[in-house]
Amino acid sequence: MHEFSIAMDIVDIATSYSRKEKANVVKEVEIEVGQLSGVVVEALEFSLEAAVKGTMLENARMNLIFIPGKARCTNCAQEYETDTVYMPCPACQTGAPDIFQGRELRVKSLIID
Ligand SMILES: [Zn+2]
Repeated sequence: MHEFSIAMDIVDIATSYSRKEKANVVKEVEIEVGQLSGVVVEALEFSLEAAVKGTMLENARMNLIFIPGKARCTNCAQEYETDTVYMPCPACQTGAPDIFQGRELRVKSLIID
């Protein structure tokens, strides 16, 4: 499962950061998940539950922040929300959107102790 390897990466990132800061426990992880990142939020939550077992993140609160997809038309500069990277511009029907939001998939912040 795609989301499981992402969950493992998140655990790795948080663990190595916490070790560097000489922390023992990760209390909270804030993760930005873009609508166009290809990640299913529910699957990621499920995968994280399994991935954190026996790690510093075992009791951490997973705060998943959903970022909606947004595009800017390369023809008329209209901005619009989209849930696919192919959605044509609603104003001029040009099918060449510049996706400027929604591909995020990153650990935004950590609370450690
Ligand atoms: Zn347009």
